[in-house]
Amino acid sequence: MRLVIASNNEHKIREIKEILGGFFDDVVSMREAGINIDVEEDGKTFLENAKKKAFEIHKLLPNDAVLADDSGLVVDALNGAPGVLSARFALDGHNDKANNEKLLGHMKGVPTEKRTARFVCAAVLYESDGSCLTSQGTVQGRILETERGSNGFGYDPLFLYEPEGKTFAELSAEVKNEISHRRKALSAMFDVLNSHK
Ligand code: IMP
Repeated sequence: MRLVIASNNEHKIREIKEILGGFFDDVVSMREAGINIDVEEDGKTFLENAKKKAFEIHKLLPNDAVLADDSGLVVDALNGAPGVLSARFALDGHNDKANNEKLLGHMKGVPTEKRTARFVCAAVLYESDGSCLTSQGTVQGRILETERGSNGFGYDPLFLYEPEGKTFAELSAEVKNEISHRRKALSAMFDVLNSHK
């Protein structure tokens, strides 16, 4: 079965391919599947957004499996912000630098013990028979006061993963993919999928 990922984000496609490559005959991006639509992420939750994206692609590609995920950073001291607005936190398109600067600005003066945060990922898989499976994964961390590391993307340089004592941007892609919110959501998804077969 072919899996179409409801995204053209290179980082995400690579990460999902690395994680899921073995589970499908083929894993392709939306563009590779010949789909060019922009689904507005206007849901109040990660799950709502992922469902909407997967459903819109599934309508166009009913014979494929379609996977959409929506993820972001939830910061306790900011009442859950940036949350579903993670990509456009700084209201400046998908600009990681501006988002990280805005996050640091909002976190000024917040003491270490209150800088807890988590990455959350909701995943939705529509199968060719129309069934819809959902899952979620989270990874806990802490927001640093300065960026560290140059791997990864998004908020990775500010997100300290305490078991390794490193930010996500200091971890290799292999290590990050082992422990990421996306890995957890996708592993949970395939547990669900397997239990349906
Ligand atoms: P998406 O839904 O996976 O496209 O993620 C939305 C936004 O959340 C991204 O643009 C990033 O700002 C942030 N984000 C999601 N996952 C990660 C991650 O693994 N590292 C850093 N930032 C992330």
